[in-house]
Amino acid sequence: MSLLPLILAKRAGRALSLAEIKAFVDAVAAGSVPDYQISALLMAIYFQGMDTDETIALTGAIAESGETHSWAELPIPTADKHSTGGVGDKLSLIIAPLAACLGMAVPMLSGRGLGFTGGTLDKLESIPGFVTDLPRDRFEKQMADLSCAFIGQSPAIAPADRRLYALRDVTGTVESLPLIVSSILGKKIAAGPESLVIDLKVGRGAFMPDMAKAKKLGEALRETAMGFGRRCSILFTAMDAPLGASVGNGPEVREAMDVLSGCGPAPIAALSRQFVHEMGRLAGVLESDQAGAERVAAALAGGYALERFLAVVRAQGGSLDANVSGWGLPDAPYTATVSAASKGRLLPADAGGVGRLTVKLGAGRRRAEDSVDPRAGCRFMKPWGAEVERGDVLAVVEGSDSRRVADAAAALEALLEIGEGAEESGALLIARLDDDGFRSEPATR
Ligand code: URA
Repeated sequence: MSLLPLILAKRAGRALSLAEIKAFVDAVAAGSVPDYQISALLMAIYFQGMDTDETIALTGAIAESGETHSWAELPIPTADKHSTGGVGDKLSLIIAPLAACLGMAVPMLSGRGLGFTGGTLDKLESIPGFVTDLPRDRFEKQMADLSCAFIGQSPAIAPADRRLYALRDVTGTVESLPLIVSSILGKKIAAGPESLVIDLKVGRGAFMPDMAKAKKLGEALRETAMGFGRRCSILFTAMDAPLGASVGNGPEVREAMDVLSGCGPAPIAALSRQFVHEMGRLAGVLESDQAGAERVAAALAGGYALERFLAVVRAQGGSLDANVSGWGLPDAPYTATVSAASKGRLLPADAGGVGRLTVKLGAGRRRAEDSVDPRAGCRFMKPWGAEVERGDVLAVVEGSDSRRVADAAAALEALLEIGEGAEESGALLIARLDDDGFRSEPATR
């Protein structure tokens, strides 16, 4: 197949037909068109855009380029959550088991770290033995037994996206609305949840730095998901400072375990509950008012989500030991501390800067083939906005390479500023987009 007619059509601003888009994606998945033609078409899409029908067609073709799942046999509704990517974002580890113990089945398809943002798969794989490439029968059995499974984007799921994303990454075409929407939703539609809540991160540590752009992406994601008959809400959340008290794969698993055990940072626990409440509302298993919110809070406080997460970890071959400090996750051999140089208020650190330094530390990848150090990361000893005294330890940097740890501690020291700001509310939910339209969230904790 030659993509030239499609390139010329899109270059001239014509909408592509469903058949053209399907043929293009099938050819990408089959490897029967050269990279230079795919890249040219991606660039034409980048400049000319795609309308809603084209975006839906592209999303469907990406989903159908590989294995797809349907959960019609399950007796309970399926629901999922997707994050557009942030720094310190361990929410999926809390939300998936919490939703599962409230009557939803969660086939959570997760990704690896991308640039300076972390990925749920890398976090889960820091648990010794944890396997994310479940074969189809094991994935389906775990969904039936535990209503929750974490899987990675194997070559079998949405293979066209893999090739398209790799080319977008090196041709300056990542930041295209229809390409982002079809990439995210193509994978999610393939995993088959009936409803989807999207965590659209906004801020200097996010893919979308400002609300105007984030809102456009949110609208396109919701419209496209609904085009597949999926219920969908968008929650816009703050990603200016790292989320919670840690960044890095193993450290974030420990923090998620703290939240599941009832002793983690309050803002993370609150945001997790808000997501599960919205998932339950969309799935029709939770009341939309305070009663629903209270059921979510009770499930978290009662330890049910912790129990379910531990069962999922066992089912996927991992081991976490409640009787050992740090749940038996390996400790990093090297640590360095960062202390306050003066008295004052700890200002929220630039999440993008922290993300980049943790990648250098080994917690993320510079190239897709790099391995990650599960022990590498930063732990923040004071919440953003806290009053600190000179000499207080603000953060601990840890990892397996002494030089990288020292370099990261120096870089972090420059990012942790003491100033005079107002106290932080800790609230992370900024706005929502659902059937009632777009609205800002009151700034309460
Ligand atoms: N995440 C994805 O999976 N794809 C994109 O294009 C952007 C974020």
